[in-house]
Amino acid sequence: MDRRDFIQTAAAGALATMSPAAPPASKTIGLQVGAVSFLDEGVEKALDEFQRDAYVNTLFAATFTYGRGIAGRQTPGQPLPDHGRQEYDTAGNANAFHGGSYTRTHPQYYKDTVIQDFRAPELGDYDVLEAVVPAARRRGMKTICWFEDVWRRDIPNIEQAQEKQLDGRNSTNLCFNNPNYRNWLLGTAEDYARSYEIDGIMWGSARQGAFAQALGAAHESAPRNPATLGCFCQHCERKAKDRGVDVARARAGFKALGDFTTAAQQGKRPVDGYYVAVWRLMLRYPELLAWEMLWTDSLRETYSAMYNKVKSVKPSIGVGWHIWHNNSFSPIYRAEQDLSELSKYSDFLKMVMYHNCGGERMATYIASVGRTLYGDVPHQELLDFHYRVLDYTQEKSLAEIPKAGFSANYVYEEAKRAREALNGTKTQLWPGIDIDIPTAQTNARSTPDGTKEAVAAAFRAGSDGVLLSRKYSEMKLGNLRGAGAAIRELGLA
Ligand SMILES: [Zn+2]
Repeated sequence: MDRRDFIQTAAAGALATMSPAAPPASKTIGLQVGAVSFLDEGVEKALDEFQRDAYVNTLFAATFTYGRGIAGRQTPGQPLPDHGRQEYDTAGNANAFHGGSYTRTHPQYYKDTVIQDFRAPELGDYDVLEAVVPAARRRGMKTICWFEDVWRRDIPNIEQAQEKQLDGRNSTNLCFNNPNYRNWLLGTAEDYARSYEIDGIMWGSARQGAFAQALGAAHESAPRNPATLGCFCQHCERKAKDRGVDVARARAGFKALGDFTTAAQQGKRPVDGYYVAVWRLMLRYPELLAWEMLWTDSLRETYSAMYNKVKSVKPSIGVGWHIWHNNSFSPIYRAEQDLSELSKYSDFLKMVMYHNCGGERMATYIASVGRTLYGDVPHQELLDFHYRVLDYTQEKSLAEIPKAGFSANYVYEEAKRAREALNGTKTQLWPGIDIDIPTAQTNARSTPDGTKEAVAAAFRAGSDGVLLSRKYSEMKLGNLRGAGAAIRELGLA
């Protein structure tokens, strides 16, 4: 043990003897946290911090991902926060980020998939659930396994689970209709449920089907090269046939839609305009929408299968989903998030309502669809139209939103809408709250007051909890304490 570790351990011991604030029983106060934070800062010290700063009573421990959004230290290029090891986990540094599973994997649950070798190598044999679950339980805190649909290309056998693009090449994304992926998801859920004393499982998929991809209908997105659209694998094509969808017509439709977006990127306006041209394609090829819905239904079937698997192991384990931020920008994606459908296999939903980065993200969404479907609409008008049809009031102009972010009122309106849609169902609503999610240096940054207002807005709208996001390793403590201030003032702690 070096001196620094000794001081950390001693400090953690001293703090552990103080009695942390009792977590509120009535509402879920969740925090997303990756394995590296526990390793860098010590389990007890980190849990003390969470309870003291924000009355956290539920840990969303990142158990699996190949993405930096929920695992690893601060994103390179963003300032390091005021806690944790003061260095990045870029290549060449200690614990250089790679991704994978941050728990031990138990081979008996992965017999029906070729995906076998997915342990994250950068933290040695560290098992985040083994390290954290018992310590959390002693404090009356719950632990939910949080994992996501983010993969890389260099995993053994992964090509046997990948989506097939229109051009026949493999995508980095995996296909929900491929038994190798479906069985991996079910195996992972079962592994967590049987191997650890966990309280819940949350999985998230932040992507969409080929039609919405082609139009670039997402934030931080661009209209897709038609050749790279997916999925057109044998499993998806068979499923399409079973639904009475003509596969050859679907392929022809996506080829035509791709030609449209390619021309649009080159500034070639269709003779009848962009909006009319897309409608003409949808009318000529209804298979475009059928293929989009095939993808969406396949995601829903995946949710349902995972839900039933976990419930068959232990009914008391909560199961729910991270619903992608695109739900706040794209009416197409929002239409696909039918909460009355999702509620059938959801004990809870983390609906992403990241207010601070929301402005910057909305601006990128407008720029993207403003070059395809809405190519004829001035972008401020297009933003006003979206505010109107998505039912937002009082948000700022296109020029201002990247620097201002969205207001707490956005969180209120989104939470109120989602809560109303879930009324009469078993499903709890836990809005995802933005704390220091990276934005461009000159754009809006989280503040203690901004965080406080967002948390207060979520509860004022009737939410059953909040989920502080995306990962502790990118959060400043002052902003985390902003969440705590709201919880205290609302009398929840
Ligand atoms: Zn497929």
